[in-house]
Amino acid sequence: MKVYLDNAASTPLDPEVFEAMKPWLLENHGNPSSSHHHGRILRAEIEKSRKKIATFLGAAPSEIFFTSGGTEADNMAIQCCIEGLGIKHIITTVIEHHAVTHCVEKLEKKGIRVTWLPVNSVGRISLIDLENALKTDQNAFVSIMHANNELGTINDIRAIGEICHRHGAKFHSDTVQTMAHVHSKLREMPIDFITGSAHKFYGPKGVGFLYIRSGILIPPFVLGGSQERNQRAGTENVPGIVGMAAAMEKCYGILEEKTKKLRAFKSRLKAGLEANIPGIKFNGDTTIEGSLPTILNVAFPSDGSDESMILFNLDINGISVSGGSACTSGSVKGSHVLAGIGCSPDHAANSVRFSFGVQNTNEDIDFALEKIKEIFPVKVNG
Ligand code: PLP
Repeated sequence: MKVYLDNAASTPLDPEVFEAMKPWLLENHGNPSSSHHHGRILRAEIEKSRKKIATFLGAAPSEIFFTSGGTEADNMAIQCCIEGLGIKHIITTVIEHHAVTHCVEKLEKKGIRVTWLPVNSVGRISLIDLENALKTDQNAFVSIMHANNELGTINDIRAIGEICHRHGAKFHSDTVQTMAHVHSKLREMPIDFITGSAHKFYGPKGVGFLYIRSGILIPPFVLGGSQERNQRAGTENVPGIVGMAAAMEKCYGILEEKTKKLRAFKSRLKAGLEANIPGIKFNGDTTIEGSLPTILNVAFPSDGSDESMILFNLDINGISVSGGSACTSGSVKGSHVLAGIGCSPDHAANSVRFSFGVQNTNEDIDFALEKIKEIFPVKVNG
């Protein structure tokens, strides 16, 4: 049996989404920038998808810009905002995804002042720290994620956005892990930039988007043709865009039952681990209100073995999980997120992220539990 519990890294493509994409892979060809009828058909479909996504977010279609994924959308928001709006101060947290931190580090090396906000033991900043950092500057750029991809801890981005706007700052939130998983009207929040990535919500890989609040003008990110209203050049990924819109529609259509199902998987695994593995701990906020239903970050009791051994043991038993974010797995560096919430290197090395998807079953969770019990026999019987 093979069990995939790494849905925060990437979800499987929904077969209905694939069906929606098929005509745009097989039948309708051409370039959406061409003015002939083949091109016009593609252009119309892109705009239909843009409108669909905008409607779910309560945004205007003109505020949605398609990209190659979440990383590009984060890069575009941060780099173009700093370059285009003359901002000299970035405020962010120490546990953002590398799509944000590496961008900010690059700008820091170029002389932009950066305030790296610390987080508490579950991964949240202090709003007072944010307010204090903003007091030093009336034209800052704040980047704070909606939910952390390793811990699942959710931030109160409404409160954060209100503070940012009160101080005249622009607020970007990496919403890659919450898009199509949490309530849809993000646009009603005091946020200037949000990001989405289709493969995190059962759409195809390699396509995402950036929402830019209307009225904010930033320079283009990718230079070339005039696609995406001159903001992001390059022939559009039409099947990907259609798939992303279809995936979002499907996810929001089943949001309640999906959330309930994923929460049940998370509780089942958590309860099973607590009952069977003495000394088990959980990283981040695990409460229903404070965390994503998709993620459970588990710290196994230390037995001298390192994280790669736990991952290896789970892998040879057919269970795919992650030791950190997918982008950092394989790296020799420990997780900056676990370090950020104050975990010791040993605790971090024994931590594993389980993440759930709609395709999972109770049998998947029970299988994982059985294998974990076999991997930690002494702890079970001792
Ligand atoms: N931001 C967060 C919070 C993520 O979890 C990820 C992917 O793991 C990304 C950004 C990058 O998205 P993509 O894989 O579409 O580039």
